[in-house]
Amino acid sequence: MWTAILLSALGMTVIITLRYFAVSGLFAAWTARRFPGRMAGQKKQVAMELRWSLLSMAIYGVPAGIIAWGWAEHGWTRVYSEWGDYPLWWAPVSVLLYLFMHDTWFYWTHRAMHWPPLFKRVHAVHHASRPPTAWAAMSFHPWEALTGAVVIPALVFLIPIHLNMLLVVLTIMTIMGVTNHMGWELFPKRLVHGVLGRGLITASHHELHHSKYRCNYGLYFRFWDHLCKTDGGLGTFKSAPARRAGRAAIVGDGKPERRAV
Ligand SMILES: [Zn+2]
Ligand SMILES: [Zn+2]
Repeated sequence: MWTAILLSALGMTVIITLRYFAVSGLFAAWTARRFPGRMAGQKKQVAMELRWSLLSMAIYGVPAGIIAWGWAEHGWTRVYSEWGDYPLWWAPVSVLLYLFMHDTWFYWTHRAMHWPPLFKRVHAVHHASRPPTAWAAMSFHPWEALTGAVVIPALVFLIPIHLNMLLVVLTIMTIMGVTNHMGWELFPKRLVHGVLGRGLITASHHELHHSKYRCNYGLYFRFWDHLCKTDGGLGTFKSAPARRAGRAAIVGDGKPERRAV
């Protein structure tokens, strides 16, 4: 039994690691191609992001692996694989519920981690990415990684979800985690500045958190930020050299850097 649990934990860690390299690698390559020079001089920072992220992989992989084993062997969790087990309308509702619960947990733990004593010990690692890159999506101190790693494993025991919908949640989680840090806006301006953008978080929103620190704590939705008056609006993107030089080479949302200034 212990060998099976160990193998499952190891397997999940490997899957999460490969997913990180594939998705972060893809978006980092896209960034380098679309905005040459955007990540100039960030080699050291990316190496640091990789080191912390690799540590996070095991912290995410072990609980997920144990639960996957329990699901397969003993029917743990409320994850179901027959569409007929719940009404079809439940499938999209469950995804929204998972995202909302994750967002709520993230907002409050994230806000708590900005309390100075906790910030120094736990959250400063994530903010050492200035400006963040696509590799920073899992660049967390182990304590912070732990707060993130327990969310989905806890939710699967509480809220029923179809296995495929769980994969949808994990895909959204991965893509938004990476794209929110990659230093440019992937989504069209119409969406980001429109009605949907007032409620959803994309890179323009999270970028401001990384430059101002004291606002925009949310993960997927701006609900808690609006409610608690911590929403600072949307940020603009600066290249790493511009930040280092301390000049405001402000790049408009999604616009190539060479067009700016
Ligand atoms: Zn971040
Ligand atoms: Zn923060």
